[in-house]
Amino acid sequence: MIPYGRQSITQSDIDAVAAVLQSDFLTQGPVVAEFEQALANHCGAGQVVVTSSATSALHLACMALGVGEGDWVWTSAMSFVASANCARYCGARVGFVDIDPASGNMSVPLLAEKLQQAAGEGLLPKVVIPVHFAGQSCEMAAIQQLAVEYGFRIIEDASHALGGRYDEQPVGNCRYSDIAVFSFHPVKMITTGEGGCLCTNDSVLAAKARCLLTHGITKDPQSFLGERREPWYYEQQALGYNYRMTDLQAALGLSQLQRLAGWVTQRNALMAGYYERTTELPVNWLTIADGTLCSFHLAVIKVAPEHRQGLFEFMRAHQVGVQVHYIPIYQQPFYAADHAALPNTDAFYQQVLSLPLYPTLTAQQQDYVVSLLQAFLQ
Ligand SMILES: *Cc1c(COP(=O)(O)O)cnc(C)c1O
Repeated sequence: MIPYGRQSITQSDIDAVAAVLQSDFLTQGPVVAEFEQALANHCGAGQVVVTSSATSALHLACMALGVGEGDWVWTSAMSFVASANCARYCGARVGFVDIDPASGNMSVPLLAEKLQQAAGEGLLPKVVIPVHFAGQSCEMAAIQQLAVEYGFRIIEDASHALGGRYDEQPVGNCRYSDIAVFSFHPVKMITTGEGGCLCTNDSVLAAKARCLLTHGITKDPQSFLGERREPWYYEQQALGYNYRMTDLQAALGLSQLQRLAGWVTQRNALMAGYYERTTELPVNWLTIADGTLCSFHLAVIKVAPEHRQGLFEFMRAHQVGVQVHYIPIYQQPFYAADHAALPNTDAFYQQVLSLPLYPTLTAQQQDYVVSLLQAFLQ
């Protein structure tokens, strides 16, 4: 089976992990901090906090921004469920903004419209979570303008977009947001097995996230609330979690990060190869905005809705592991009760299929994938 995405592991990755295994610390050692610094340098972010997953980073981000009972958090339904679940963990209610069908990203005009309506009803969101679909940044400058106008905070779910650029600058620098979150799951841009991180330029948010990351405990005497100063004293100040990344994982991530820029170039070249091979076929590709470098976590095509399921089954029957990204979150039973469908999201979902895309995909494999598309669609 040619999968839709897969990790790439070299001997240097294995050596980096083995070195940690033979060191004094398997977790809470020095490699986590090294990985955080390398990510901060890569993204141009003030601070990076690595976590056990993007899901836990999204949860920490919501908590750091004070999301709680009675608040509204808005996101895109054309995403993985974690983009919405993070708000529900905090007791908040979730609203979904419709997408721009050309990119799959949250539509700025439809966000503006929904905000205007919510302002009239006193139901404005505390946080909006734009999702950078397939690795292309949302229109963050325009979303930030709306944030200033309507007083909400922004968490970028950049799980797909590590290595991408917006407005000529790296995604994750948080120029237009409070926090950005990345995933290091094996199908994503780099991997640590499971893992993720949050980026921010706000040191107060970073400190809150860091405290909640490890049980709500601080060991820093400067920030103790009480008077106690025994040498072994530590203080739990909030109800936190164990969302830490291990040093084993950080070593893998640090090693992978060195190859990220090359992988983004390779993924873009592979996409150009797909475009060339499909000019005669009835398939559409996502539109990529000028000034944007898409990291291309996913190679998403749109086909006529009546062909999509047949094509999925045909490709799978011929050992090509296509996938559908995503079932709209509001169609999940957990969310369905209180959410109406959104027309663009629904129509997009009926058409999309993700083709294989990963750095080691060969030209021959691409030829094979496209020959199957041709056989089915023509
Ligand atoms: C993968 C993904 C997540 C969750 O990432 P994990 O690291 O698996 O928790 C969240 N949001 C989006 C958009 C994703 O694609």
